[in-house]
Amino acid sequence: MQKLNALKDRLNDVHNLRTAMGLLGWDQQTCMPPGGAGTRAAQMGTLSKIAHELFVGPETGRLLAEAEAEGAGLDYDSDGAALLRAARHDYDLEARLPTDLVVETAQTTALAFEEWHPARAASDYRRFAPWLGRIVALARRRAEALGYGEHPYDALLDEFEPGMRTSQVRAIFDELKAALIPMVRAVAGQADRVDDAVLKRDFDEGRQEEFSRAVAQRLGYDFAHGRLDRSAHPFSQGMGRGDVRITTRYERNWLPGALFGTIHETGHALYEQNIAPELDNTLLGTGASLGIHESQSRLWENLVGRSRGFWSSFFPRLQAGFPQALAGVDAEAFYRAVNRCGPSLIRVEADELTYNLHIIIRFEMELGLLSGEIGIDDAPAAWNARTRDYLGLTPPDDRQGILQDVHWSGGSIGYFPTYTLGNLMSVQFFDRAVAERPGIPAGIESGEFGTLLDWLRDRIHRHGRKYLPDELVRRVTGGPLRTGPYLDYLRRKYGELYALSQE
Ligand code: ZN
Repeated sequence: MQKLNALKDRLNDVHNLRTAMGLLGWDQQTCMPPGGAGTRAAQMGTLSKIAHELFVGPETGRLLAEAEAEGAGLDYDSDGAALLRAARHDYDLEARLPTDLVVETAQTTALAFEEWHPARAASDYRRFAPWLGRIVALARRRAEALGYGEHPYDALLDEFEPGMRTSQVRAIFDELKAALIPMVRAVAGQADRVDDAVLKRDFDEGRQEEFSRAVAQRLGYDFAHGRLDRSAHPFSQGMGRGDVRITTRYERNWLPGALFGTIHETGHALYEQNIAPELDNTLLGTGASLGIHESQSRLWENLVGRSRGFWSSFFPRLQAGFPQALAGVDAEAFYRAVNRCGPSLIRVEADELTYNLHIIIRFEMELGLLSGEIGIDDAPAAWNARTRDYLGLTPPDDRQGILQDVHWSGGSIGYFPTYTLGNLMSVQFFDRAVAERPGIPAGIESGEFGTLLDWLRDRIHRHGRKYLPDELVRRVTGGPLRTGPYLDYLRRKYGELYALSQE
């Protein structure tokens, strides 16, 4: 496999440049002094240019074609065949984008981000509107350049969730909407059944950090191959399986921020730390898609971290860390508090039940903007109308409405659906894990997570990017992505917490 190895060497150079950029990005959000921003932008620009040129250069195309000819007989499940599939997918995508479009997108989004920040702070949509208009126009050009089957949005979605179609997302989201809107309304009518005042008491930040570290380690996060730091927005950054870092933020009067933020990022990191060593530092040494990645973070955050069983073993330790703040509270009261839900305006603060409605609003907005059905000037009204229809709330200003998220200013149109797809997958994966390893729930109750992590490693993590998300879901669960298991889970959990009548 001489040709395949030559291709691998070249792709590994690209991969190494990208992980080096990942490290620079991590540094920018954790340690870099504000004065470093200009130099950092220049470094990133140079590295991304070299990586792009190396990747789409004619030499890569030649090596890829030769390796494909050589590897034509490889077994579908082999690492070599998977590498060829992924390389062809990425190469065709990147080679289809004209350089002027890439450059214009980079320049426009850099400026749009700088305008979005003050526009959001001042709740001044008119300041951001021309930039949103340019970004939507660039997204249309991008979709045309990449090509698509049924809908221009397919091309954008495919960059984050390879193989997924807009029509599939729309069908899934319509099912969710029909079930979730009445559930959220019913919960709002029973709001006083769950109280979370206990989470707003005084929690020393140093102690929060100690507990966050202890939880991450207990879940299986390997600190010899990672580290936990602080950043304004929590994230995880993998530089190969040997160096997968996570960050969180601490708020003195809001315990869940750091606690569940850490568990969420640990879920992302466990995925990357457990990719097979053979795939390390290759194109396949990362997650299968953003949706699959999010399924891992949500699985640990919600299905493990917000479960009654988890707190039956962890609450005594938490209480020992915060004896004053948690005096007189028991595990059951704490479990109920961390699962309080109800409609709210800000996506990143939304609970498990209402979160997906925030995503559906964004998906419908993106489709409307892309097709022109929603004009740039009418976008805030369209946003607010959906918020009213789905969540029963009207944003008092655009800061708490259309201006709240950073994604569009960065040019990421087609990204939002992956959050909800990840939620759906998390339940299908977890159900399957428990069906195959019935001891998992008892393990969680006693603070033992090895059985669950072993199962995830064997069925999902070790494959890295070898399979498309849909293939992986089918391989693991025996069927396609569905709304049923997820909705059953929500009905069971919140039906009990809020004493909803089951229809
Ligand atoms: Zn995440």
